[in-house]
Formats: sequence, structure tokens, C-alpha cells
Amino acid sequence: MVRPNASQHLMRWGFEAAFDAVSDRAPASNYHNADTNELLRRREAASFSEAPDWGVERKRTQQVLYDAALRAGAKIEFGRGIVDVSETAEGSSVTLTDGEVRYGDLILATDGIRSRLRPQIMRTVGLTDPGPSADGTTIFQVEIPVERVLSNPRTRYLGETSDLMVWMGEGLWSYTLFNTKTRVFVGLFGMLKEDVSTSSTESGEGSKSLWTQEGDISHVRDRFKGTHHVLQELAALTTSCDRWRQAELPDLHQWISKHGRLALLGDSAHAMYPDAAQGFSQIVEDVACLDALLLRPSTVQTATAEWQKIRKPRAERVKAYAAANHQLYRLGGRAFPKQTSDSSNDQANKDGDQDAILVDANAPFNTPAFTKWLYTYDVVKDASVGSDV
Ligand SMILES: Cc1cc2nc3c(=O)[nH]c(=O)nc-3n(C[C@H](O)[C@H](O)[C@H](O)COP(=O)(O)OP(=O)(O)OC[C@H]3O[C@@H](n4cnc5c(N)ncnc54)[C@H](O)[C@@H]3O)c2cc1C
Repeated sequence: MVRPNASQHLMRWGFEAAFDAVSDRAPASNYHNADTNELLRRREAASFSEAPDWGVERKRTQQVLYDAALRAGAKIEFGRGIVDVSETAEGSSVTLTDGEVRYGDLILATDGIRSRLRPQIMRTVGLTDPGPSADGTTIFQVEIPVERVLSNPRTRYLGETSDLMVWMGEGLWSYTLFNTKTRVFVGLFGMLKEDVSTSSTESGEGSKSLWTQEGDISHVRDRFKGTHHVLQELAALTTSCDRWRQAELPDLHQWISKHGRLALLGDSAHAMYPDAAQGFSQIVEDVACLDALLLRPSTVQTATAEWQKIRKPRAERVKAYAAANHQLYRLGGRAFPKQTSDSSNDQANKDGDQDAILVDANAPFNTPAFTKWLYTYDVVKDASVGSDV
């Protein structure tokens, strides 16, 4: 999903039509108990903001951005790995696998959670890379032909809505999202490590990769046997799945190098659990912020230092929220805040008076004040105001 805190920037950059062509503007997220299918909470992210909550698959998002990058004149080369980065006060360089060296004013290391460049960048300021931490939970991702979902009377309603659906069970959780534009129905089945420990291929122990195309769908069916029949039916409708071992990156002391000409951006800086659907959206914020700062008349070093100062606290708070959801979803909804609340902010949310809700980054997660901060925050405003570094 592309959340409103990110879609506002994509719209400003002229992507509205391209994303609308391949995405639904998801009306809401619905949180259920995985055993009973009871609806615990319905949340409308986009109601806080005019910007859409786009429900779109990863490969469609990549295609939209790839096409736009080519149109803008970017040169994209595949199969050209980077083995080294370095910098001086005057500039920076990358070394490719074939030994070729390229130079630039600023190099962004966007090489993901298992970044090879992160240790090199951290070394410039005397720090060591903590590396990702995986808690042993695993997500199995499936794509189900929507005709199958629609032809089963028990699952049909899931193929007739573009709401995000979430189910929370004891030690397991699930999501579904149907995209009416692409007719793609995606399901995610998450589970704790002990549930996959009987199979070394499923546990992925010792595997360097966090992702594989060879998840075992029969394992998912077995594990979800005790859950509500809707989830069992969904698992039965699918024939294959991808598997992701879940991981996050601990908060880093620094995202930028000694001279500020090498910067970690995206998952290499702040990889988070997917349970807030914010990893990509935080990258859009990274880019929007850096773009605004680099357009100001200052040095690269000043821009990257200010970028880190603005972006790091926000990304880390969102990462903590994703981790909290990651814990929450596997408790069967027991700890999940239900719809009713006496707080004035909840009341305002219920009454539809969104303006009355106070934005508060430090409010407890999953409260209207926090959710409003999450979705309405505009990083470009912060970058325009500027701050002393
Ligand atoms: C199951 C799941 C669901 C998710 N759902 C959402 C969602 O709904 N919304 C959302 O906002 N986020 C979501 N996320 C998070 C999102 O996918 C990530 O935050 C995002 O893909 C990270 O992008 P990235 O470019 O930083 O890293 P990556 O996507 O990991 O890309 C890194 C790239 O760098 C390349 N690379 C690595 N090393 C080198 C090297 N040495 N030289 C050259 N290239 C290299 C890799 O080949 C890769 O192409 C989800 C994640 C998961 C696992």
C-alpha cells in the first residue's frame, strides 16, 4: 500500500493518474479476530487526509516509478553490483563489480535491509553496523486469481471490496487486499517461528536471503487449520506462495557518512516490520525531504545533515509503531484497541470531526492523535522551514 503521508508527494510529482490507473483508493482497514472473524475496528486512513491510501502491488509500483525515471532521463543499469563506496570532503565514488569507478556529489545507498554498503558508511564515523534483527516470524504471500475468490460463497465478499482486511490470531495473523484495477487479490499469512521449525526449508535458518519464491503452501494450510473458515478457504484457494522472513533494522546512530556525501536511504537506514505498511511510504518521505533540501542554496553536507535530523526521528517512531503492530497482531486481537473509547480524540474521530483531532507523534499507537500524525505529516513543510544543524 502507498499511504497518504507518501501519496501526497507522489501526487505533487504528477503521479496521480499513473497510480490511479493501477491502484484502488482503499476506503479503510478492517481488523478482525482470526478465530471468530469478529470485526474489532475499522479505520479510514484517508479520512484524515485528502491524499489517497493507494492499494497497489509492489511490481506495479516499481513499473510506474521505473517508467517515470526513464522519461526523466535516468540511466538504469541492471546486473551492475556495487562493491565499495568512498568519499572525501569534495566528492564521493562507487566501485562496481567489474572495477569501474564512478564519481558523484552525493551517493545514496539504497541497497535494502541487508545493505552491503552500510558497514562501509558507518565505518567513516567510527561505528559498526548492527545488521538486521530477525525475530523468527515468517510471512507467506499469495496471489489468488480473483475468480476463485468470487466463486467461493464464503470468500466472495473479500473479492468485492478494496478494503484492507487484517485478522489477528494466537501466534498468527493474515491480511488480504483486492485491487479492482489490476484484478489481483493478494493474501499474506504470518506466523511465529516455532510454527515452521519442523521444516528447515521453511524456517530459512542459515539462509542468507530473507525472501524466497518457494514457500510451502501446505504448511500455511496446516497452520491455519484452527482459524475461522474464511482464512482456511483462502489458504485452500491458493497453489503457491512467496516466503519472507520478517526482520527490522535497529535504530542506527547515523545515516550519513563523515563528510555527508554518502547516505543510507530506505530500508538500508530504517527497515521496519511490514505491519504498518509504511516501509515504502517512509522512503517516499526520505526522497521528498532530500529533494526539498537539495533545492535550497546550501552545500550537500548541510542538506544531508539536515535531512538526517528531520527524517530520523520520524522514521524511527514509525518503525516502533510497525514493531508494536507486529507484536499486537499475533495476540489474537486481545490487546488490540477496540473502536469504542472515551477519549475526546476518539469521539471526534467517531463523529467525523477530523479537524478536532490533535496531531501527536507521542500519543499511544493506534489512537486517532497518532494516526493523524502518521498520515497527515508533510515532510516538505519541515524541510522548507529548516532547522539549525
Ligand atoms: C511482506 C511485505 C509487505 C510489505 N508491504 C508494504 C506496504 O504495503 N507498504 C509499504 O510502504 N511498504 C511495504 N513493505 C516494505 C517495502 O517493501 C520496503 O520498505 C521497500 O521495498 C524497501 O525498498 P528499498 O529500495 O529500500 O530496498 P529493497 O526493496 O530491498 O531494494 C534494494 C535493492 O538494492 C539492490 N542491491 C542490493 N545490494 C546491491 C549492491 N551491492 N549493488 C547494487 N544493487 C544492490 C537489490 O537488488 C534491490 O533491488 C512490505 C515489505 C514486506 C516484506
